[in-house]
Amino acid sequence: MDMTSLKEMVDTLSAEGYIHTERVKEAMLSIDRRDFIDELLSNEPYVDTPLYIGEGQTISAPHMVAIMLELSEINETSKILEIGTGSGYNAALLSFLANRGAVFTIETNRVIYNRAVLNLSKCKYAKNVVTLLGDGSQGYEKNSPYDRIVVTCAVPSVPEPLINQLSDNGRMVIPVGSMDYQRLYLIEKNSNKIKKSIMADVIFVPLIGKFGFK
Ligand code: SAM
Repeated sequence: MDMTSLKEMVDTLSAEGYIHTERVKEAMLSIDRRDFIDELLSNEPYVDTPLYIGEGQTISAPHMVAIMLELSEINETSKILEIGTGSGYNAALLSFLANRGAVFTIETNRVIYNRAVLNLSKCKYAKNVVTLLGDGSQGYEKNSPYDRIVVTCAVPSVPEPLINQLSDNGRMVIPVGSMDYQRLYLIEKNSNKIKKSIMADVIFVPLIGKFGFK
């Protein structure tokens, strides 16, 4: 494990203002991004870019991960739904932050899902993660409502089931737009009122599914 480079990555994200809480900093220092990347696909785990993880998919850039974690304002007991498990890296970070809560993460691609299960099984901090195979665009009603919903693939519009599965005082971060360009929305639910704020211009891989792209 190259601690110097991991520390450099986190220090740079802090200096650039992407990380601004101690908890997110601690999480990103504790979960090594390298452990979620196949070294045959990339030998630069700490560069601030998305990296290929196979099957046409990517692990998001570290600054994007930091933005989404900070916006989510996760606490130790949060119950979280993540859509788009990918490598499992973000699920591990969510698990670290919500260490007395629960993380449900859904992936639609079976090959990617199997790799994520393996990656997460080797991560000592990811003890409260439930991995699910399926179409996350419909959420996961069984364990709803969720205090936090984090969507790591792009949708054309916010899926109604996800709004319904968000708890009161819940927060959702989700990239909304076209196949090749989106805006990152922060959605807050308070007393059944929904507030949508645009937080950043982003580019995510598309969500494929009932409420996603065809
Ligand atoms: N969070 C991931 C990580 O930490 O590596 C990165 C996720 S990657 C940017 C987006 C993932 O969303 C891909 O693995 C893709 O297969 C998945 N995906 C696309 N449509 C989906 C759907 N309907 N339900 C669940 N996952 C989906």
